[in-house]
Formats: sequence, structure tokens, C-alpha cells
Amino acid sequence: MNIINGKEIAAELRMQLKEKVEKLKEKNIHIGLAVIIVGDNPASRIYVNNKKKACAEVGIESFEYALPAETTQEELINLIEKLNNDKKVNGILVQLPVPKHIDDKAVINAISVKKDVDGFSHNNMGKLATGDYGLLPCTPAGIIYMLKHEGIQIAGKHCVVIGRSNIVGKPVSLLMLDENATVTICHSKTPNLKYHTLQADIIISAVGHAKLVTADMVKKGAVIVDVGMNKDENGKLCGDVDFENVAPKCSYITPVPGGVGPMTIAMLLNNTVKTCEQEN
Ligand code: NAD
Repeated sequence: MNIINGKEIAAELRMQLKEKVEKLKEKNIHIGLAVIIVGDNPASRIYVNNKKKACAEVGIESFEYALPAETTQEELINLIEKLNNDKKVNGILVQLPVPKHIDDKAVINAISVKKDVDGFSHNNMGKLATGDYGLLPCTPAGIIYMLKHEGIQIAGKHCVVIGRSNIVGKPVSLLMLDENATVTICHSKTPNLKYHTLQADIIISAVGHAKLVTADMVKKGAVIVDVGMNKDENGKLCGDVDFENVAPKCSYITPVPGGVGPMTIAMLLNNTVKTCEQEN
């Protein structure tokens, strides 16, 4: 059994991006990422800080816009439109969730397609669905990157994705399909999840439910990608997979923490560098 070290793979990718950023700087091209956070959700604050830290490490300048929870949708969209036209800003990210009175879809779709580094806009998602890739959503792109990095064969394999969210489940299913996997998507209304997972060569779990995937649900030698971020009974961060009991059965598994999480941020940096390269 191999534990896929997402932390290490992400660090390697950040080093490569740092070199690209330095080369651009030599040509007097500077990369900037605008990060917008609305309200004071503590988890969002941690995510934003981690993203800013990663930007600094590779030499991307980050501009934080911390807005009060009462910010109106119009005010937020006005800010996005200003950033769309700001040459110092190559990427724009709105940390989700936004407060309930704001329509997140309207906000995301206000971001210029070229600066949509989260890849969540209708335009970039539509491109993904038709195989004409624009900016890819970071977590799904990070998963594919990891699998390829480890030399894991995807073509011809049966991949069972658990979860159908717009940010992970659906886009990762499309990417796996484009990599020529046979894809089954399971969700909260799927009867007998185990029936499906037992047939999987690759399981990608993106649910948010600790110990949802247990050893009896996994075929021997399967590859397991755990996207979930949950708290266990001791308040420690854990994924969707019962790691201790599942790991001995599989060929490859991603841990939580240190698996998919660091890859998500690395792919955000990758998208930001890409937008800058395309602009220049
Ligand atoms: P979501 O809540 O939007 O979607 C969860 C999905 O799980 C839904 O599609 C639902 O149908 C499905 N589901 C719920 N209960 C189920 C069950 N019993 N069996 C099968 N399917 C079930 O969540 P999301 O935004 O996709 O995130 C999923 C998890 O991944 C969360 O824990 C989140 O924190 C984590 N996450 C991690 C990263 C990362 O970078 N590591 C990024 C995004 C999300």
C-alpha cells in the first residue's frame, strides 16, 4: 500500500511555479491574486490565510479584500468589476460560502472568465463539460495531477465518485471521464453505496462524512482519494475514509490531512500563473 503524499507533491509543484514566477519577474511581469472574504467565518479565514501564505511562497502578490458580513451583493459585484479591469490582478477568488443574502452564482459569474482562478463560473464549467478546458476547478484538477504524478492508470478503470457537488463531485467526474475512466457517480440518494464502491478500481470520496467509506466497501487493490474534511470523535481533522482499516486493503490512498488539501491550493497558484502567462 502506498500513501500518496499530497503535501510533498504540492511542494514540488510550488517550486516549479516559483521558478516560472521568477522568470516572469525578470521580464518585469508581476502576478497578483485578489482574495475576497465576506463576513467572519473562522474556517474561511483559515483558508484565506493559507492561500495568501502559499502565494507569498511562490512570489505571487495577494490583495485581500475583507468585507463586512452586511456587504450587499451589488457592492460585492462592483468590487469584482473593478478588479476585472485592474491590470495588477491576474486572478480573483471569492472565498465561499458568502452570507446567505448574497447569490453566490451571480457573484462567481461576475468574475471575468480569464480571472476565474477557482474555475467555478458557468463559462469555465461549461468548457470543462465539453472538454475544451479553460481554468479548471482546483480540487478536481489537483486530484488528477496527483494520480498522474503517482503513475496511476486511469484509462479503462472504473472510478466511483461519491458526492455530486459543483466544486468537487461533478467536475472530478467529468475530468475522470475525459481521462477515459468509466465513471459512476453516487450521492445521498444512491441506494446501496457499497454495491457500487465494491466494483471500483478508483474511489473518490467528496462527501463530508467521517468514516463513510469502510474496509468492507473497498475492493482489494483499489485506489482511494479522500477529499472529505471532517472532525473525528476527538476533534481531529479526518477525511471520509476509515483510513486505518481501509489503507491495508488498497494499492494507493490519500491521507487527511496531507493529501488532497495541499494540492487544491497548489492548483490555485497554478491557475493564477496560467492566467498571467495567457495575458502576456
Ligand atoms: P457538498 O456538501 O456540496 O456535497 C456533498 C455531496 O455528498 C452531495 O453531493 C451529497 O449528495 C453527497 N452525500 C451526502 N451524504 C451522502 C451519503 N451518505 N452517501 C453518498 N453521498 C452522500 O460538499 P463538497 O463541497 O463537495 O465537499 C465535500 C467534502 O470535501 C467536505 O468535507 C469538504 O470540506 C471537503 N472539501 C475538501 C477540499 C480539499 O481541498 N481538501 C475541497 C473542497 C471540499
